[in-house]
Amino acid sequence: MSANKVALITGASRGIGRGIAVALGQQGWTVVVNYRGNAEAAAECVSLVESAGGKAHAVQGDVSVREDRSALLEQVLTTFGRIDLLVNNAGMAPRQRVDILEMTEESFDEVMNVNLKGPYLLTQMAAKNMIELIKDGVMSGGQIINIGSMSAYVSSTSRSEYCVSKAGMAMMTKLYADRLANEGITVYEIRPGIIATDMTSVVTAKYDKLIDEGLTPIRRWGLPEDVGKICVAIAEGYLPYSTGEVINVDGGIHLQRL
Ligand code: NAP
Repeated sequence: MSANKVALITGASRGIGRGIAVALGQQGWTVVVNYRGNAEAAAECVSLVESAGGKAHAVQGDVSVREDRSALLEQVLTTFGRIDLLVNNAGMAPRQRVDILEMTEESFDEVMNVNLKGPYLLTQMAAKNMIELIKDGVMSGGQIINIGSMSAYVSSTSRSEYCVSKAGMAMMTKLYADRLANEGITVYEIRPGIIATDMTSVVTAKYDKLIDEGLTPIRRWGLPEDVGKICVAIAEGYLPYSTGEVINVDGGIHLQRL
């Protein structure tokens, strides 16, 4: 149990972010529930975290907007005085699945800004604050978790910009892990496979069939709480001598099989 520890989870109003928030709430964490537009869903998440035994606070902000990123961190630090864990979870699929040869520059920019540039720069800012808080003795260490995707290595030509953003996040994890290890901050990438959320609800029938046919060695959809459990293991300090690790939460989909 981690009373007093504070986590900022981006995009925590729904889906995987909510699953992570509730799992940390069960361990007594204080969770800052960031969201972009759905205040109702964020309020629901706050109630769920509180019912689970944690504390929670919703903060609106778009991770792709510089002023919002600054305001978000400012709120966390002025309200709670610390940030033990940053979870870069907020992300989006392209608004339309379009073949790579037809994909627009606007879609490329939007997806890259939300999925890669936003988390990259938010991490830079959060890490600097964590370093200061550690130096001042407020915290003994910090942790950063990036929610990547199997799309970092699986080609989907109808959402190529998403794949490129997640491949970038994989490198971002290594870079920050390397730079921050000696500062007392560890960095991880969780790489989900097919998780049942609003993001995948548009392709439910397709994935139901593929999973039925054995696409995932563990034959079921992944759930937000599957990702939440891994975050708890990291947050609670069960991976103390690991950094830059990729943890697949995908029912074994990454295994090469004959
Ligand atoms: P989701 O159900 O669509 O939920 C997205 C969440 O992110 C919502 O809370 C949304 O807030 C928030 N959000 C979106 N854009 C944002 C922005 N610019 N700034 C701040 N918050 C923003 O998505 P999900 O399936 O839970 O996905 C979460 C993460 O897991 C993403 O990074 C995604 O790429 C990754 N992932 C998902 C799967 C999967 O199968 N679902 C697989 C691999 C990786 P509002 O509620 O306010 O809109």
